[in-house]
Amino acid sequence: MSEPYFSSLKCRECGRLYPKKAVHVCEFDFGPLEADYDYDRIKAALSRQVIESRPKSMWRYRELLPIDGEPTVGLQVGFTPLVKADRLAKVLGVKEIYVKNDTVNYPTLSFKDRVVSVALSRAIELGLKTVACASTGNLANSVAANAAAAGLDSYVLIPADLEQSKVLNSLVYGTKVIGIHGAYDQVNRLCSEIAGKYGWGFVNVNLRPYYAEGSKSMGFEIMEQLGWKIPAHTVIPMASGSLLTKIYKAYQEFVKIGLVPESKFSVHGAQATGCNPISAAQKSGTDLIRPVPKPNTIAKSLAIGTPADGYYAVRAMEQTGGSAEDVSDEEIIAGIKLLAEMTGIFAETAGGVTVACARKLIDSGKIPRDEPIVLCITGHGLKTAEAVADHIGKPRLIKPSLREFDSLIEAELAEAAH
Ligand SMILES: *Cc1c(COP(=O)(O)O)cnc(C)c1O
Ligand SMILES: [Zn+2]
Repeated sequence: MSEPYFSSLKCRECGRLYPKKAVHVCEFDFGPLEADYDYDRIKAALSRQVIESRPKSMWRYRELLPIDGEPTVGLQVGFTPLVKADRLAKVLGVKEIYVKNDTVNYPTLSFKDRVVSVALSRAIELGLKTVACASTGNLANSVAANAAAAGLDSYVLIPADLEQSKVLNSLVYGTKVIGIHGAYDQVNRLCSEIAGKYGWGFVNVNLRPYYAEGSKSMGFEIMEQLGWKIPAHTVIPMASGSLLTKIYKAYQEFVKIGLVPESKFSVHGAQATGCNPISAAQKSGTDLIRPVPKPNTIAKSLAIGTPADGYYAVRAMEQTGGSAEDVSDEEIIAGIKLLAEMTGIFAETAGGVTVACARKLIDSGKIPRDEPIVLCITGHGLKTAEAVADHIGKPRLIKPSLREFDSLIEAELAEAAH
């Protein structure tokens, strides 16, 4: 790329332009800053053929991602499978459903590898040496791994009560893991103070305009993998609400540059009832987000009480005729098991949230049964194993003898006959 297609940062509220530095809020109205592109030049440069000729990673859409030069971090991230799930469709009573399977995203098994590869590639362009994040777990894993691979110093700040696997999966890369006695909102507030004082690149604070754009790649891939079209319905888990707003933006951008035909689509948001500030607002017909001071859910990756992009997520649902839902911990576990048994995909708690909310939206008629649906499954189940450990049975133990095995099968047949 000679001259970058990504021109500046722009305030979402007043439209003021800002230079492409490590800044994230407008000085005049505190609106969030967002990457701005030269779409006319992108339209001239980017065709389906050009994209299809490139390696299968999120960087095949690099003109629509906010870096100046070539990416340097996370070159293999993305292009995860879009799985047509016919057995799941049957159980849910719908015609056509797909799973966008980011449980196998590279390298840390969640969609956060997308946002981190953009944020760290940009951090290197900006000359930053230390990167950091406030995280509910998956982001910490991805910052730790990708910073290690890139040779950057890293700090990850997390609520102290996260799942063991998520803590371990940050520590192993040699990052500095700081556990905070408090909820995510408190972690995040502390990170804003640290970012100002130490000048580090916090991927979801002062690098947030770059980080957030990485989520668009999930939407780009869905459209390409569906044969260059927008799915009628997309169900998306919401923590800060960023992923939902960026999938919406991705769909609009592909229409704008002529890569997919314009068509009617809805984006739907999924949360846990124990932390549902965005879904509660959408359901009561307001875009005013009431913070949840003490989140209480097994879906810890989604437990953000004061969601930074909640307002824009509600607006995206309103503008596309989409709806939000939220589900209990029992429904989340049932959602994880249903997805595993019907598709062979083991998702973390956020995946259970998405499946269970999709089921509710279908049963209530908010998603029609005869239109195509995509479920965004964003993280791997092995990272939240304790959430399901007591709900999936235990192995049957026998001695290494055929006789014991025979009697086990006999007992099973007898039970089945009952
Ligand atoms: C971070 C995360 C999300 C969504 O995050 P947003 O802040 O709404 O972009 C969804 N699923 C998982 C597993 C996550 O870790
Ligand atoms: Zn502004």
